[in-house]
Amino acid sequence: MIDVIDIDDRVTLDDYAEYVQLRPSVEKLRKEASRLMKPLDGRTLWMVNSTAEGGGVAEMMPKLVALLRELGLDARWAVIQPEAQRFFDLTKHLHNLIHDSGPSRLGSSDRDLYEAVSERAADALEPHLSEDDLLAVHDPQPLGMGAILKERLGLPTLWRCHIGLDHDTDATRAGWNFLKPYAETYDRTVFSVQNYVPDFLSKKAEVIPPAIDPLSHKNRYLSTHKVSGVLCNAGLCQESRHVLTGDFEHQAERLQNGGDFGPATTPGDLGLLFRPAVTQVSRWDRLKGWVPLLRGFKRMKERHYAANGSGGNGAFVRSDEKHPERHHRRLNLVRLVLAGPDPASIQDDPEGQAAFEQVCQQWKELPPAVQRDVAVLALPMDSRKQNALMVNALQRCATVVAQNSLQEGFGLTATEAMWKGCPVMGTRAVGLRTQIRDGTDGRLVQHADDPDEVAETLDAMLNQGRERQVWSRNARRRVADKYLVFSQAERWLEALDACYEACGTGERTGAEAVA
Ligand code: UDP
Repeated sequence: MIDVIDIDDRVTLDDYAEYVQLRPSVEKLRKEASRLMKPLDGRTLWMVNSTAEGGGVAEMMPKLVALLRELGLDARWAVIQPEAQRFFDLTKHLHNLIHDSGPSRLGSSDRDLYEAVSERAADALEPHLSEDDLLAVHDPQPLGMGAILKERLGLPTLWRCHIGLDHDTDATRAGWNFLKPYAETYDRTVFSVQNYVPDFLSKKAEVIPPAIDPLSHKNRYLSTHKVSGVLCNAGLCQESRHVLTGDFEHQAERLQNGGDFGPATTPGDLGLLFRPAVTQVSRWDRLKGWVPLLRGFKRMKERHYAANGSGGNGAFVRSDEKHPERHHRRLNLVRLVLAGPDPASIQDDPEGQAAFEQVCQQWKELPPAVQRDVAVLALPMDSRKQNALMVNALQRCATVVAQNSLQEGFGLTATEAMWKGCPVMGTRAVGLRTQIRDGTDGRLVQHADDPDEVAETLDAMLNQGRERQVWSRNARRRVADKYLVFSQAERWLEALDACYEACGTGERTGAEAVA
């Protein structure tokens, strides 16, 4: 039921400080940490979530825990793994409700199930804990467990909620009503965006934006040769004779005509190193806006072909085009790359499977002229490092990285692309518009579910070479200023201090010291 995850992270603060650009952030973190660590000295922090891989939380956890350890806190990462699939269906339903999606009805059997599983998870984690520890649980899955452990042990508890919406609806109210009795027992809570904080938690909430690790395999700099090497090793590129490194054990696959997955270079090379590409990498989740993105791309291509004859050989000149012939050729060549985790890795996620199958179905229904320019890729999850390198290389090969989310808690995929200096097309989903200032760091579509608008925005972005450079430079700077792990770790230490204080543990320790 509980797995304590081993973290093997050898990149130290000294390593980051070797980079002149990162050094000031590292120095600031060290300086602040020496003050903030005092109340936490000698304590153990337990970070608990519900998955060790896939999604933004699992992505951030190893680095955050490793950094806190290096700063002197005994931080550990545990994952609850309830056997009951119905529990994950319920927590997925809650997740959707908080994002205003799905039926609002929750019954007493849902609460019974949630409480029974939370009780068992609490039984499993309790032997690992002492009253001096601090418990930080992430998202709705372990929330109930934390509330039970708070009651049993009285230890300081913090709830880190990674999801939210900036307005109330019947669905969000239903979700929050369900979670409220557990959430309000916590000493402190943390949200990604101020507007996500529900009223009943406003007095005990703070905001910490998610963050990325600039030296991780997902985000580190890759030279042109390294990008092409990774693509070849991963089976995403045909040429491999002159590549330095050997093939990855598990290769990326591509949806084939017959409906099965096969080699990514069949029926022909993807052209990732040469052709313009619009690329989205995400989990297979309906709210990621895969289908409207695909429809928007189709519309863009069809509009182009309609104006030029099929094959796009006519003269289609828009009044705002700067280099019409080049743009014309770009629209002929551009591909849409939709990449997500190998579906075998989400077998226990029926909604993810359904979202994935829907993308495949939409692809099968595309007219052949468009279908050949859309690649649906399954990225193997067997090796965290190799998966991260594939995502890194794919994003770096994109002319535009799309994140067409209908709702988005934050959207680390956008942060990752922005850090790499890839022009990003996001949406008005709160997490994305928090990161991307429209027209400054990238572009935002107003209605992610409107294929016409998606088509217009993509077409315009592809045609705006100069602006893409400006956006990508600004985006990189924005991430450097706001969304790197150093400021995140500092904010966590502040939040943990506040949590001890709110729990009264800090005062007790003070009294003990006087006694
Ligand atoms: N991701 C990945 N491999 C994939 C698909 C996604 O590593 O095949 C990662 C992606 O790079 C990002 C995370 O999963 O780091 C998704 O986080 P995000 O905040 O974008 O969305 P979430 O999944 O948490 O809703």
